[in-house]
Amino acid sequence: MNPMPIPIPRFTDTHAHLDFPEFAGDIEAVVARAAGAGVHRVITIGCDAESSRRAVAIAERFPNVWAAVGWHPNHVGNAPEDVRPALAPLLRHPRVVAVGECGIDHYRLPSSQGMGTEEDDERVKAAQARVFRQQLELAADSGLNVIVHQRHAFAPAMDVFGPFAGRVRGVFHCFVGTPDQMQAVVAMGSSVSFTGIATFKNAAEIRRTMAATPRGSFFLETDSPFLAPVPHRGKRAEPAHVADLARVAADTVGSSTEELSRDTEAAVDAFFPRMGT
Ligand SMILES: [Zn+2]
Repeated sequence: MNPMPIPIPRFTDTHAHLDFPEFAGDIEAVVARAAGAGVHRVITIGCDAESSRRAVAIAERFPNVWAAVGWHPNHVGNAPEDVRPALAPLLRHPRVVAVGECGIDHYRLPSSQGMGTEEDDERVKAAQARVFRQQLELAADSGLNVIVHQRHAFAPAMDVFGPFAGRVRGVFHCFVGTPDQMQAVVAMGSSVSFTGIATFKNAAEIRRTMAATPRGSFFLETDSPFLAPVPHRGKRAEPAHVADLARVAADTVGSSTEELSRDTEAAVDAFFPRMGT
């Protein structure tokens, strides 16, 4: 008699960019490797109208991939005055599970890229806030939750998000904040998600925040093709790497990968109710 195979703990990659050119050559293999590693669901995230349409097309093609539709703050340069007419029709698609990614990025501003003045920076900041607010309105209207990007901009992102807190929940993705910042997010009924950065040797602070986060309020993600976790650091990240992140996360929070799987999967199900299992 063959022994029963031991089931691998299942996880969801809640944030990948499978529409990026890095995956154009081998997306089938990437999606298959994820499933083989126990990463049984992947959400591919749009960054503007075109990228969001590509995300939806990928979700139509693979039964274990869903899409989020949004306009990234680093792409506001090519955003129309109002992004809602471009995004709203896509939100009705049954495989679209969230609005995003959207938010605020004060890391890549024109002056820091040698491409403008501080006045240009202010214009970009204002455009980011406007486009973020439009997407929070879309989320409130559609009943979907929001994937929030905040880089060097936690406080400005909270300023825009705050007034929506009663109507919309967000996941503050690629979270690298302090335990206090995490508490502020959780207090609004929102969540945080951690990338492969949490596996880096010098990321003890992020692991401290992770350990302090209530189990129902955090997810795992890759942000593929960026931020591959140890031991893949420096290479192209892909959704299968959530399995590597999960081992570090389980250690960090002091549970088994099975317990972590149960807790994070329940949190993901509650946050993305349109996503089937
Ligand atoms: Zn992203």
